[in-house]
Amino acid sequence: MNEKLRPQPRPGVMDIAAYVPGKHGDTSKGKVHKLSSNETPLGASPEAIDAAAQVLAHAELYPDGSANELRRAIAEVHGLNADNILCSNGSDELLGLLAQTYLTAGDEGIFTEHGFLVYRIQILASGGVPVVVKETNERADVDAILAAVTERTKIVFLANPNNPTGTYLPFEEVRRLHAGLPSHVVLVIDAAYAEYVRRNDYESGIELVSSAQNVVMTRTFSKIHGLAGLRIGWMYAPAGIIDAVNRVRGPFNVNAMAIAAGAAAIRDRNHVEEAVAFNEAWLPWVADELTKIGLRVTPSVGNFVLIHFIETRSAEAADAFLTERGFILRRVTGYGFPNALRMTIGSEEANRGVVEALTDFMKA
Ligand SMILES: *Cc1c(COP(=O)(O)O)cnc(C)c1O
Repeated sequence: MNEKLRPQPRPGVMDIAAYVPGKHGDTSKGKVHKLSSNETPLGASPEAIDAAAQVLAHAELYPDGSANELRRAIAEVHGLNADNILCSNGSDELLGLLAQTYLTAGDEGIFTEHGFLVYRIQILASGGVPVVVKETNERADVDAILAAVTERTKIVFLANPNNPTGTYLPFEEVRRLHAGLPSHVVLVIDAAYAEYVRRNDYESGIELVSSAQNVVMTRTFSKIHGLAGLRIGWMYAPAGIIDAVNRVRGPFNVNAMAIAAGAAAIRDRNHVEEAVAFNEAWLPWVADELTKIGLRVTPSVGNFVLIHFIETRSAEAADAFLTERGFILRRVTGYGFPNALRMTIGSEEANRGVVEALTDFMKA
């Protein structure tokens, strides 16, 4: 058959390596601890689940297309103007909407060497050119990013903290990055793990958005709020960007259960605080224990750690060894770490189990 007769995707699409989600593991062989997608071991707020269940009883009704209830709740809790908030079907959707809204074929989108892989996918899907910038010590390098800016640059994606490294840029550095960007370049600060960060020199981006025309902060309900299955993200952005993305998004992009559950979840401050306290206790414990048995762990401020092995073969072998014992971690070869595994901080049982298993693995 003549190739030319087949539908041809737009340029860039066939260059995309489809995103590979964290594995679920085989539950037929016993209990499985899924530590591969940075989900919370505490689950969602019971109030969020109740709210979703009530809405499900009326599944025949379209949701509120502007997700007012959810935007109001977010605005209230964070002290923001609801007009500057836009909600989405997971924050992944927002990353795509922003790329689609601001990139024309041939425009450049910047992200860093070990940055979240969705950025590359969304830049390519919008016909843009991905520009990958080297990091320094597994952390975004502001000077390197600024040096990569050209007149074709339209968007810069920065995960802060970053996944899968767990490292972060202090707010002084983020401000310096913003100050060095031309005003027509959109700076997207992806703060998916912001709630977990306990550092005096960190800020999620809210202040910067408030004081600039070209900065967006994206957030998610998938991580600390435990609602990954409902797909809820949001962004805080200047009026001009909100207006543009509102024209591009689907009219009912956030479903009714997500709106209700998200509003209840963000108002349940106790649940969020419990999750933070849990992570505060177990993140250092896991990192210390793994360091003691001779593994290098990248210092993380998120709810996960990047564990480095000596070579690709040992990361593969450790992954198989852990899987056999029911612990599913994440291979991160696609992120430029063929010798590492990413582990989500799980339940006490899971954390102790992984440390015990890796202790045995290192002896073998
Ligand atoms: C998990 C994650 C997200 C959130 O994705 P959702 O689509 O909201 O589930 C966004 N950015 C980063 C860096 C993440 O790790």
